[in-house]
Amino acid sequence: MRSVRGTHFIQEEYPGLLKDESSLSGGNCQTAAWPENAMEAAEYLKECFANGVPVTISGARTGIAGGAVPMGGAVLSTDLLKGIQPTSDIHTIRVGAGETLDSVYDYCTREKSGMFYPPDSTETTASVGGTVATDASGAGSYRYGSTRKWINRLQIILPSGTLLTVKRGDFNFHRGKFRHPLLGLITLPELKTPQPVKNAAGLHISPEMDLIDLFIGSEGKLGLIVEADLILSRKPHTVACFAVFCNEKQFWELRSDLMNANLPLRELEAMIPPSLSFLSENTGRPFPEYEDWVLFTSIDVASEEDIDIVLETLEMILEEKGISIDNTWGGFDEASIKRLKELRHLLPETVNRIISGLSSRNRRIHKVSTDTAVPPEQLEEYYRTMKNILRSSGVEHVVFGHSGQGHLHANLIPSDNDQMEKAEFAVERIAEEAVKLGGTVSAEHGTGKLKASLLRFMYSQKELDGMNLLTESITSC
Ligand SMILES: Cc1cc2nc3c(=O)[nH]c(=O)nc-3n(C[C@H](O)[C@H](O)[C@H](O)COP(=O)(O)OP(=O)(O)OC[C@H]3O[C@@H](n4cnc5c(N)ncnc54)[C@H](O)[C@@H]3O)c2cc1C
Repeated sequence: MRSVRGTHFIQEEYPGLLKDESSLSGGNCQTAAWPENAMEAAEYLKECFANGVPVTISGARTGIAGGAVPMGGAVLSTDLLKGIQPTSDIHTIRVGAGETLDSVYDYCTREKSGMFYPPDSTETTASVGGTVATDASGAGSYRYGSTRKWINRLQIILPSGTLLTVKRGDFNFHRGKFRHPLLGLITLPELKTPQPVKNAAGLHISPEMDLIDLFIGSEGKLGLIVEADLILSRKPHTVACFAVFCNEKQFWELRSDLMNANLPLRELEAMIPPSLSFLSENTGRPFPEYEDWVLFTSIDVASEEDIDIVLETLEMILEEKGISIDNTWGGFDEASIKRLKELRHLLPETVNRIISGLSSRNRRIHKVSTDTAVPPEQLEEYYRTMKNILRSSGVEHVVFGHSGQGHLHANLIPSDNDQMEKAEFAVERIAEEAVKLGGTVSAEHGTGKLKASLLRFMYSQKELDGMNLLTESITSC
């Protein structure tokens, strides 16, 4: 197994291992290892455990909550935990934690014709292990749900080096309790209110849940995910996708009409002003003189005949709102889907690039963003509150995200220390408002190191202590 030692050596030779897309600074570690299989990973974890060395698990480091940034101790990189193979069930594939989403998509195209892996978190260079650990979700989670729903089996290594296999359906909690042959009696903490549907904040807790769901979204706190069985779905005949350029009033009405229309919507996304002008300024990319609210939608189309029905329905809804079909981009072909996906991806990528530049000049600057979500019917009210908070912070920002699921990301771009404080204050206030409306402080990125403090808005101290106790009881096995 490849491994390296020495804080300065690692800083000099492997700087990439000490940061992720959050641009959180201060990352350091004394040792790092790249196991190639479960046995090697178990040995390394066991040794660290015996010596009391904390281990940070590092996937593709596309995370934006700083979870993979080590603050001392050891790093275990999943880069070499590779392999994609079929299982006896034609609907699942077995994938090593270090494989990227891109490689899963390529494999499905090559080997699983007519099938696809639905969770589509925007950053396709993310590792499968990382997406399971954060319960990542993307635009398509409006129809298909988050990663959780698409995981059938996990192989996990606990910090002590113990190997655990958990298959969906094998182990279930009843009234918050369950006795596992290896882990002993596990008792879930009681939560005063159930967690929101889209939620990546804290451990996943529900009194009648499957044990596998405790590990999904646990952000590396309960152990290393070595491999996962991913469930595939049958591809629809085609996917229609559109970007509709409209004004604010049209946007909210259109969103509501589409959510209520009898259409198999896969995505309902938003880019909110000044996103387009921000992109023009920072990428040099010109945009036509359209209205500056953008609603992205994609629709699963079951058959050739349905194409006309989808188009007619969409045209009718747009017409009612006074929006011409000419003010839309899109179509039914791969090229259109790719073009719109790239446009959506470009916005967070551009923000991350700018933040990374600012952070290299001022180490206190890192990504300050929201990953809050509220029940979808509350989104319009929540957006207005969010906008007021952002405006009064005086920090440059863009807002975009998964409008169909009540989930908008505000990305702030602070230029100095004073703005950093203002941005962090704004993010806390936005998180507090989300929880007041029955939402979450993190819907898909996890809380990592940067957002762990926001958990206090969502859970009482007793609940947080309960989650910590549960973590201790599992990681001590
Ligand atoms: C431009 C851009 C767009 C993005 N869009 C989305 C989006 O739409 N939806 C979304 O959900 N996220 C999005 N993200 C965030 C990121 O891609 C996801 O959080 C992703 O799941 C992280 O995977 P990773 O392999 O990079 O994990 P890392 O960043 O390496 O790690 C993330 C966390 O998981 C833990 N971890 C990693 N691998 C394992 C493992 N094998 N076992 C146990 N724990 C592990 C780490 O310790 C850390 O706490 C985006 C990021 C970028 C840069």
